[in-house]
Amino acid sequence: MRVASLGSGSRGNALYVEEAGTRVLVDVGFSGAQLARRLEALGVDPGGIDAVIVTHDHRDHTAGAGVAARRWGWPLFMSPATRAACASLLRGHEEVRTFEAGARFEVGALRVTSFLTCHDAADPLAVTVTGAESGLKLGVATDLGRPTTGVRAALAGCHFLVLEANHDEVLLREGPYPWAIKERIGGSRGHLSNRMAAELAVELLHPGLCGILLAHLSQECNDPERARGIVAGALYDRGWKGAVHVADQDDPSPLFDLPGLVARAGRGPQLDLFRTVPR
Ligand SMILES: [Zn+2]
Ligand SMILES: [Zn+2]
Repeated sequence: MRVASLGSGSRGNALYVEEAGTRVLVDVGFSGAQLARRLEALGVDPGGIDAVIVTHDHRDHTAGAGVAARRWGWPLFMSPATRAACASLLRGHEEVRTFEAGARFEVGALRVTSFLTCHDAADPLAVTVTGAESGLKLGVATDLGRPTTGVRAALAGCHFLVLEANHDEVLLREGPYPWAIKERIGGSRGHLSNRMAAELAVELLHPGLCGILLAHLSQECNDPERARGIVAGALYDRGWKGAVHVADQDDPSPLFDLPGLVARAGRGPQLDLFRTVPR
């Protein structure tokens, strides 16, 4: 399984996942031209994408859904409520396959499990994606105001996590946004802060977790080094030795090779430290 962010933040999100010849995107919040540019930067032919999984209707996750579905024939997987909320992006002849929140479905060599999050969209979902060949589990959870019990359970046992670290709580409080926007971002149906991302990552720590990509960072109320420091610091305090990366808004991340990362993580003697994880 290989994974890369095409870009992440309030101006667009898309994540590329491939396994044994199956290629999917989770969200398509960029224009068609930007999607093509970013995929080509990773060496991926846009015509080879097998499916798009749309997590929710906000434009930073859906902006390119209609145009990409028409231009490249990408099937769009989304819930009925998300489809209804995205109606203005669709002309009616795109291939849309609906699934209910909580559903599991397969796209080629990838098994997708959806689960509800706490977020102010029509039907906010996050997903895990498990490779049929590698057996590796990827968790993709952005746009969640709070990590619920259901979110924690769904993300348990992931080998790689794409996790929201939207804002620093102090920078949000002191930042330029009007009060109502601050309330929305920091509220239980808004976005996850660095501190809450760190707490969730610690709860999800297990011997097989080999890497974390922090995503959906606010450009006004966060900075990559601060987010990375808070999350990595909490994990390293508990003996974890994996890498914490930060997704950029404007350019794709490296293409992470998960089997390679798992193999490297498995070599070290540090795994004994994971027997108990403080809650
Ligand atoms: Zn978003
Ligand atoms: Zn959203």
